[in-house]
Amino acid sequence: MLKHDVVIVGAGLAGLRACVELRKKGIDAIIVSKVYPTRSHSGAAQGGVNAAFDENDSWESHFFDTVKGSDYLGDQDAIEILTSEAPANILELQRMGVVFNRNDLGGIAQRPFGGQSFPRSCYYADAVGHMMLHGLFDNVLKYKTKILYEYFVTSLVVDNGHVSGVVAYDIKNGKFEGIAAKAVLFATGGYGQVYSSNTNALINTGDGMAVSIKAGVPLMDMEFVQFHPTTLKSTGILVTEGARGEGAYLLNSLGVRFMSKYAPKAMELAPRDVVARAEQTEINEGRGVDGAILLDVRHLGKERIMERLPQIMQLSIDFEGVNPIYEPIPIRPGMHYSMGGIKTDNNGRTVIQGYYSAGESACVSVHGANRLGGNSLLDTVVFGRRAGVDIAEYLKDAAFTKFDESLIKRDEEIFEKLKKSNGKERHGLLKAELQEEMRANVGVFREEKAMKKAVKKIEELKERAKNIGVDDKSKLFNTDIVEAFEFSNILLIAEVIANGAILRKESRGAHYRNDYPERDDENWLKHTLATLDAQGNIKFDFSEVTITKFKPQPRTY
Ligand SMILES: Cc1cc2nc3c(=O)[nH]c(=O)nc-3n(C[C@H](O)[C@H](O)[C@H](O)COP(=O)(O)OP(=O)(O)OC[C@H]3O[C@@H](n4cnc5c(N)ncnc54)[C@H](O)[C@@H]3O)c2cc1C
Repeated sequence: MLKHDVVIVGAGLAGLRACVELRKKGIDAIIVSKVYPTRSHSGAAQGGVNAAFDENDSWESHFFDTVKGSDYLGDQDAIEILTSEAPANILELQRMGVVFNRNDLGGIAQRPFGGQSFPRSCYYADAVGHMMLHGLFDNVLKYKTKILYEYFVTSLVVDNGHVSGVVAYDIKNGKFEGIAAKAVLFATGGYGQVYSSNTNALINTGDGMAVSIKAGVPLMDMEFVQFHPTTLKSTGILVTEGARGEGAYLLNSLGVRFMSKYAPKAMELAPRDVVARAEQTEINEGRGVDGAILLDVRHLGKERIMERLPQIMQLSIDFEGVNPIYEPIPIRPGMHYSMGGIKTDNNGRTVIQGYYSAGESACVSVHGANRLGGNSLLDTVVFGRRAGVDIAEYLKDAAFTKFDESLIKRDEEIFEKLKKSNGKERHGLLKAELQEEMRANVGVFREEKAMKKAVKKIEELKERAKNIGVDDKSKLFNTDIVEAFEFSNILLIAEVIANGAILRKESRGAHYRNDYPERDDENWLKHTLATLDAQGNIKFDFSEVTITKFKPQPRTY
């Protein structure tokens, strides 16, 4: 049994940022991650991170844009923190060694992003996540932090409303371990693998959210799933919004910039929910090109493409066989981001004492019904830092609580049973069925009948999952078993999403219902909170949206 004051699960930007805050105070905080830190999905972020620096810009404007972007579901006290603390956080990253592109005056360069009324997205070509992740990781190493990587967390241990630690599977050595802690932070990222055609890393299986709901922590607003408008047609690999920020056009089969019909002012730089729906409508109404839309950057010229969008150019060549200097890129909407997540307050605290979450796994909520591009990286550093600060305070009179070691045994038995099973089902095939069901029936456009079909499919898959067998029976580095366990997590998350989406009888942000096409503030200006009852069935409660400054208005662009 290991014992540390703080266990941070997740080594993406949120986990690393919290870790720096704790380690610089000399606190005994360790990191546990299922992959080596720099393989976390944060490293794939391309386009930028928002902060209002410019003298003609203001954080109040960023505040309003984010509230409007969230379709008024984001909590305004939290959004005020996000946007007002943004500039200081970015400057702090810069002092830690993170490099951003420069403007003519030598300051941080900023590009336009969707739904933002001012160009305020700080970038490093089209690889800002890579730069931020490596910069923060250097700092975590500087403080000689203990990192358990290739450790897969399977359970949260709770004693009487207080956190006691986690159970983790050491993938390299094939054994379970208990890690006792006074405080635990989950910075475990999103659940992109619930959907086919997603932009996410294979490791994004919503583990932290699944483990949390099983431990009694509510998941908030899970029906809100972001579909990014520009993902490569054949693979779902992301083409950054930064491309449209640099001036790219969206064209249908008639060669028309169709966004003029859907968002006449913002055009291609309308928020993601608006653009994704516009594209899907064009495709559904027969104005797509082979099931896709065309993203045209040719007019930017070779030099600018190579300087600002080098990764996009290479990805298009490698995965789509298209060189964007000469040809438009075929793209379509793909699952991208989890607006919902583990319910926390503005300091990352959850309903369990000493248990925190930050980053994409958490729902503070700053993104509400639709996240604006460039606000997620910001969320990871602002709320990762705040969680670190709060944990340091919390530790002042926190103690270790009783660690129920039978949970280690319980998880061990789940793995052993899987290993011994001769079941005929394979997690990879079941996952593909689930992903396609979710894409088709709980996607960009939703309606009750199709979503009920998806719930039925999930029930069927839950039954079939009992008959999963693994082919790899070995002890060391058995990823077959880990993936089988990950599948059980995405299945549970899919169930929460689909049921939440059926429940919410309105259209708001990324949640669009053909059968309820209007936003309904009277009945639905509220958060959903999902928990599990004693039988493991999902139940929903509601909580109020915090509105401080901006009353809901019609949302047009
Ligand atoms: C392709 C792409 C491009 C993006 N571009 C942008 C952008 O330009 N601007 C922007 O604002 N946002 C962008 N986003 C969103 C943003 O990058 C993410 O929301 C953010 O980086 C998430 O950071 P995180 O720290 O919360 O989680 P992640 O970086 O996903 O890290 C999660 C960590 O949790 C660990 N973990 C998970 N489960 C377990 C487990 N069971 N046991 C142990 N460890 C576990 C993982 O090992 C990993 O270290 C992009 C996202 C994608 C997919």
